[in-house]
Amino acid sequence: MENFDDQETFRDRLSTISEEGKRLWVYPKKPKGKYYNKRTVIAILLQIFLFLSPFIKIKGDPMLLFNILERKFIIFGVIFWPQDFHLFVLSMLTFIVFIVLFTVVYGRLFCGWVCPQTVFMEFLYRPIEYLIEGNNSQQRKLDLQDWDLTKIWKKSLKHSLFFLISVLTSITFLAYIIGMDRVLEIISEGPASNIAGYLGLLAFAAAHYFVFAKFREQVCIIVCPYGRLQGVLLDNNSIQVSYDYKRGEPRGKHNPLENRQEQGKGDCIECGSCEAVCPTGIDIRNGSQLECINCTACMDACDAVMDRIHKPKGLIRYASERSIADGTKLKVNVRVIFYSTVLTGLLVLIGYLFTIRTDVETTILRVQGSMYQEYDSAHYSNIYLVQVVNKTRKELPIQLILEEPKGQIIMMGDPLFVKKGEVGEANFLVVLPKSVVTSSSTHLDFRVVSEGIEIEEMKSTFVGPNSLDRHDVGDEDEKEKSDNDSH
Ligand code: SF4
Ligand code: SF4
Repeated sequence: MENFDDQETFRDRLSTISEEGKRLWVYPKKPKGKYYNKRTVIAILLQIFLFLSPFIKIKGDPMLLFNILERKFIIFGVIFWPQDFHLFVLSMLTFIVFIVLFTVVYGRLFCGWVCPQTVFMEFLYRPIEYLIEGNNSQQRKLDLQDWDLTKIWKKSLKHSLFFLISVLTSITFLAYIIGMDRVLEIISEGPASNIAGYLGLLAFAAAHYFVFAKFREQVCIIVCPYGRLQGVLLDNNSIQVSYDYKRGEPRGKHNPLENRQEQGKGDCIECGSCEAVCPTGIDIRNGSQLECINCTACMDACDAVMDRIHKPKGLIRYASERSIADGTKLKVNVRVIFYSTVLTGLLVLIGYLFTIRTDVETTILRVQGSMYQEYDSAHYSNIYLVQVVNKTRKELPIQLILEEPKGQIIMMGDPLFVKKGEVGEANFLVVLPKSVVTSSSTHLDFRVVSEGIEIEEMKSTFVGPNSLDRHDVGDEDEKEKSDNDSH
């Protein structure tokens, strides 16, 4: 490639930082086109979901809750207590693997379409900015001009709205952690009685405002760990927003009177539309770059240009580096099928883990270090500990039934009631006739019942004397027999 070194110099610096190290403010032109329309629909749906779901309750609890402080999570009405933490960790690990595999195949599709940073920035804050300050050139002009009444009211209105949205968003996010009821309680109690809550809300709102009013694309370029990982996750086969340099080069200005092919020119007319709409301020024609969030704005912009000059759309399109280099269309190959199958498998695994989760978990263990006891002349007893994890929304009375062999259960202390979301435990004795205890380890089958409904079947063992110590059983049997005879 000619002047290859020159063409690669863009990689030496960030497009949003000047040579003097100062921030270069990005003024992206308002995008329009079919991808932007689709992204708008998705963004609106996501925002409706985000802002409304803290108000939706299922059986009295929030539909979604991520109470990290108390390790209590509710996902679509299903409560996950601290006892389910393993499930949560497994889900998180699966999610990370999912993201890695997804990125290897589909690139930064997530960033452009559903990442909260993009959804908020491009479909909430930016539209307000366009509405108040106008399109990119008007915004630039406003920033450069001296402060006058127009600039003051436009800037004040914009930043007031930005801060208001930040406060609403921080209330929403807090509701996801402690529940909307508690948030409304904090607000109604006033700052005097809940200073910590108010300060937390304000700090979150301020951080949110700073990110969307000031820091903006720098989050994706500098802070986001997912963005940083792109260098190792993407390869030549990953799907990403790409410029078809084979078709576009050599670029040259458009002249409706000339035949570009005859002039040896590619399809890129150097109009700069793709660069003008880029929210991270890069030129996609330089190749794949870390700053590119795959937002598709340049695809829409270039498609509109191709339409105008009567060339096929897709000079900038979703493609892999390899497909561009080979001049082939993006195909569903074995690799895509394989990774997609693994991704589906992971989703099924998470789904399965969630479905096998039970509302009540019982453990029955013989008390550690305990041996069998002579309960009376005809019975042995063992002491056990029952632990019940109640993940339901109500208090559960627990009853234990010994199914096999026939014997007796004697609860020690009060009957067992387990409060919602808590672990209850109690000790109990299993008393078996000596005649049933025929070995040093007898299998026990329990049924755990609550309000007449069987919750679980459990197994355990009953320790008895070994065969060398069993003369007493024979003696007792003899005794019992002679007693009966004498009667
Ligand atoms: S929008 Fe298309 S034609 Fe215009 S500069 Fe970008 S790639 Fe070239
Ligand atoms: S290069 Fe295109 S896809 Fe990438 S961030 Fe800029 S406008 Fe979006």
